Amino acid sequence: MKIYFLGTGTSQGIPVIGSNHSVCLSNDSKDKRLRVSVWVYSEDFSIVIDCGPDFRQQMLISKCGYIDALLMTHEHADHTAGLDDIRPFYFKQGDIPIYGHKRVLENLEKRFDYIFKNENKYPGAPSVIPIEVKENFNFTIKNQIIVPINATHGDLQVFGYKISDFVYLTDVKTVELTEINKIKECKVLVINCLREESHHSHFNLQEALDFISLVRPEKAYLTHISHLFGFHEEIQKKLPENVFVAYDNLEILI
Ligand SMILES: [Zn+2]
Repeated sequence: MKIYFLGTGTSQGIPVIGSNHSVCLSNDSKDKRLRVSVWVYSEDFSIVIDCGPDFRQQMLISKCGYIDALLMTHEHADHTAGLDDIRPFYFKQGDIPIYGHKRVLENLEKRFDYIFKNENKYPGAPSVIPIEVKENFNFTIKNQIIVPINATHGDLQVFGYKISDFVYLTDVKTVELTEINKIKECKVLVINCLREESHHSHFNLQEALDFISLVRPEKAYLTHISHLFGFHEEIQKKLPENVFVAYDNLEILI
């Protein structure tokens, strides 16, 4: 199974439009971050988690040509705004299965009504098969068991996903012990870490490191990174041996 980091930036991406911040002006390709998303794939399945505003570009860069399913973590625009760009997949494959919390699916149905409606569709509009994800109910995509991990992002419920020995948790601020027990000692944990300063709905560096110590994965990767966190190279120097700053187009094998 391979994990391809399609995007590792926070909601505005890096560089931020119009910003003269030194990180936004960095020449290091690892300091260029599209909105957060990952592609998890093997010979048997191809799953994309979240579908933000950079989705089209991410699909082109990664050469992802087929998706069995889209898994949504939550409804915020930096995770969902690219949904219209599933069109090429829809033309090739037919209706695209999209998994998410009931609330998230309802939100998307409002915002992308033309994608979700079944009658009088605009010719060329894509279609999806909405599938509800429920807390404590595992589901299967192409024989691969997916374990939803419940968490909160400020006041908002979000889902992370455990796929085999890989765990993807983004936009979390609190995770209950019962959920932590589902992911303990996994091989690879991807966890959001916005910056060093605290934030009302995201882990900062200390909170992310404390969470990693609790989960004890073999390796952890930080994602959803703000330009305020600093340069990729500088952040990496501050981290324990088994913790890495993820960057766009990094691919890992599990
Ligand atoms: Zn986000």
